[in-house]
Formats: sequence, C-alpha cells, structure tokens
Amino acid sequence: MPEAVIELEDIHKAYGELEVIKGVSLRAERGQVVSLIGSSGSGKSTLLRCANLLEESQSGAIRFKGEDVRWRGAGHHRRPADPRQVTRIRTNLAMVFQQFNLWAHMTVLQNVMEAPVTVLGRDRVEVEAAARRYLDKVGVGDKADAWPAQLSGGQQQRVAIARALAMEPEALLFDEPTSALDPELEQEVVRVIKALAAEGRTMVLVTHDMRLARDVSDHVVFLHQGLVCEEGPPGRLFDAPGTERLQGFLSAGQ
Ligand code: ADP
Ligand code: MG
Repeated sequence: MPEAVIELEDIHKAYGELEVIKGVSLRAERGQVVSLIGSSGSGKSTLLRCANLLEESQSGAIRFKGEDVRWRGAGHHRRPADPRQVTRIRTNLAMVFQQFNLWAHMTVLQNVMEAPVTVLGRDRVEVEAAARRYLDKVGVGDKADAWPAQLSGGQQQRVAIARALAMEPEALLFDEPTSALDPELEQEVVRVIKALAAEGRTMVLVTHDMRLARDVSDHVVFLHQGLVCEEGPPGRLFDAPGTERLQGFLSAGQ
C-alpha cells in the first residue's frame, strides 16, 4: 500500500459529554486529495483539527507518514507526549481556514514569511525568495507589500494558501476555504486548489462545494453525526450514492 501521509484510526472525540467524533478512520496517501463532506455540525472541522493536533482526541491512533503520535494519559486526560513531535506534525500539515486569519499588522509578504522564519528558523533571505514565488503561484505576487485589509476576500485567502505553502508542508488541510467568499471570488480560490491538486499535493479538503469535491478528489468521505456514513471515489458517491442520507444531503443542494 502507498505511504499514508495522514492516517486516523478509530478516532473518538468529545467536548465534555458531547461526543462529536464517534470512531472515524481516514487516510490520505501521498499525492491524494481526500474530501470531507457532510452537514454543518457533522464533525468535519473537529476531525481536521484532531488530525493536526490542534484539538485533543480521547482515543484512536493518529499517524503521520507511518509515525504514531505518542500519547500520555487516557480518555479526557490523553495528551500528546512529545511537544517536538506535535510541532513537527503540525508544521507538516498546514491548515487553511474559512476565515483566512491573516495578521492585520503585517504586510502580505511578512504574513507569508513569519512562520518559516520564526517557527522553522529558516534563513530570511531564502524565505523571502520562496515567499515571493508562492505569492506569484497563487496570483497575488503584486500584493506583496499590501496590508491584508487592502485585499479582497479571494486575494486574502490566496495569501493564506501561499502562507501554508511557505511551510513546505507534507500536506495541506483546507477547512471550507471558499465558504466566506462571494461566488465570484470563490472561483479564484477554486482555481488555486485545482492547480495544487493537479501538481500532486496531498490534501484533505473540507468543502461545501460539491463540484470542487467531485473535480479534485481521489476519495470522498461523507460524515454524518460524527461517523463516516459513506465513502468512496467521487464518481460513485456523487452519481450513485448508496445511502438515503447521502442522497438527501446531495439533493438538498449543499
Ligand atoms: P462541522 O465542521 O462539520 O460543521 P464541527 O466539527 O464544527 O462540525 O462541530 C461538530 C460538533 O461539535 C457540533 O455539534 C458542534 O456544535 C460541536 N463543537 C465544535 N466545536 C466545539 C467546542 N469548541 N466546544 C463544544 N462543542 C463544539
Ligand atoms: Mg466546520
């Protein structure tokens, strides 16, 4: 079997008494795009945040390139045992959020350079050259010296993608990257995501955009109330959903 960059096995996650992930497994192999779809509240964001250790899970295995996350404690007391492992995994699974979360007090270029310089300790001159390349790649190279507030939502989200790419991560995790955008700006972000998929990036993509999921995914996972209800290749899931739940979800025009 090809190497899995990210592997989740039987993950359980509760907020206090509220169980929101009830035993979910997921794998993204190198070069694969895996999309997570499902209604609001089904646990998509929580699962992504558990995968890159932004959020604690109470049981189940998380593996990064075959390396098991090591834990101490159990259940609600379970925590990753090794902070350096957490940093390594988190920097390798770069997240792009619905709200782009750019730093308002930094220029576009500084936003993209910040983490590679401060977290990874890379050489500033090399980081700047790379940052400019990534900004060009997502089509905002001419905005390097602008402030985030001077950009449209679509441009800000593309900067956020450049910022994730600048970490040179093993995989990108997208949480509804187009949901906060007006329809006409959505497409400029969709184009970037499609280009990244076409160049063989490993990605996990939470999206409400079923056309995007169909176009870019190797594998689609439909979550319902914290469980995988159905999964498979996009052609089968979208053209021949096997459950009434997925049929209902798709016909509701999500
Ligand atoms: P989705 O991304 O699919 O919309 P979420 O992962 O955001 O779903 O949420 C899954 C469930 O967990 C929801 O019932 C939500 O209300 C709950 N939830 C999410 N974050 C928190 C939190 N920080 N504290 C308590 N409950 C939360
Ligand atoms: Mg969400």
